[in-house]
Amino acid sequence: MTSATPLFGRVCLLGVGLIGGSLAINLREKSLAREIVGVARRQETREQIKKLGLADTVTGDAAEAVRDSDLIIFCTPVGSYAALGEAISGAFKKGAIITDVGSVKNAVIRDLGPFVPEGVHFVPGHPIAGTEHSGPAAAFGELFEDRYCILTPPPGTDDAAVKKVQALWEACGSTVQIMDAAHHDKVLGITSHLPHLIAYTIVATAQDLEEATRQEVIRYSASGFRDFTRIAASDPIMWRDIFLNNREAVLEILQRFTEDLTALQRAIRWGEGDVLETLFTRTREIRRGVVELGQAGTFDTRERKTPEESED
Ligand code: NAP
Repeated sequence: MTSATPLFGRVCLLGVGLIGGSLAINLREKSLAREIVGVARRQETREQIKKLGLADTVTGDAAEAVRDSDLIIFCTPVGSYAALGEAISGAFKKGAIITDVGSVKNAVIRDLGPFVPEGVHFVPGHPIAGTEHSGPAAAFGELFEDRYCILTPPPGTDDAAVKKVQALWEACGSTVQIMDAAHHDKVLGITSHLPHLIAYTIVATAQDLEEATRQEVIRYSASGFRDFTRIAASDPIMWRDIFLNNREAVLEILQRFTEDLTALQRAIRWGEGDVLETLFTRTREIRRGVVELGQAGTFDTRERKTPEESED
């Protein structure tokens, strides 16, 4: 989408890593913002943001960046929201829209809601898109293409503000769905948080094995393990914050998962092949559904072989 009048005037990105940086590329390439200001704590990150041309101005002063901004997008780990919200609470311009990209939604509303003044709109969001890479250099413009983005505006949120945030994500190539925050946290608990927890566990268990076995685990990882290693390479701070901030939903789904795992364990112990076959047939259908919806992603067979050959 290109337009003579950008959708937003000044856009402030609080955090310019994989998600914030990818948004910055879209804002610029699609002329969605008149001006982009990026915020990061570390000098090293700020230098990178500048070098990559992801923002017009880069600063470590969040309140200064928020002042005069029409759209403020939280793109930092969700555990940082409360302190950041407090630091910028006096700086919002009247009529400004605050949104975010955080992977949990109830906690975000709990942490940021109290800092949103009268006359400022808050439209929480979560793009269902990402990779295991972090930082500004990991950003790319196509990240949100053909992906879903979930918005969870609390009841009473200004409709025009919701529509503007929706237009932003649609311009990035995403399909927008509006959802209740608690429902979002449950759905993502099963589709994202539980799989990550399982991946972290499997990879850590393999690492704890005897040295000889561990080397073989790595050598023969193409047989299934490697997909877990990719997921388990995701940013530790971001995932720590997700689990701490979606505690109830994750614990509930984990309880259910543990019961199902025990049932499977029992079927293997008692040689109940029909139980295994029925379950594996049912799960195959789920994969078909994911493929049909165009959400399967790709398994790149041309993966680079050594870290030296890697560009990231
Ligand atoms: P990232 O690549 O690690 O980037 C985070 C950025 O935030 C960095 O620029 C970092 O720079 C800055 N930052 C961190 N804490 C800050 C603070 N207190 N104040 C100001 N800047 C701060 O992270 P990401 O993968 O883009 O994830 C960002 C958000 O997107 C998270 O809330 C995550 O839940 C959500 N999300 C991620 C994915 C994914 O797959 N990665 C997908 C969907 C949603 P400094 O360290 O220099 O401050």
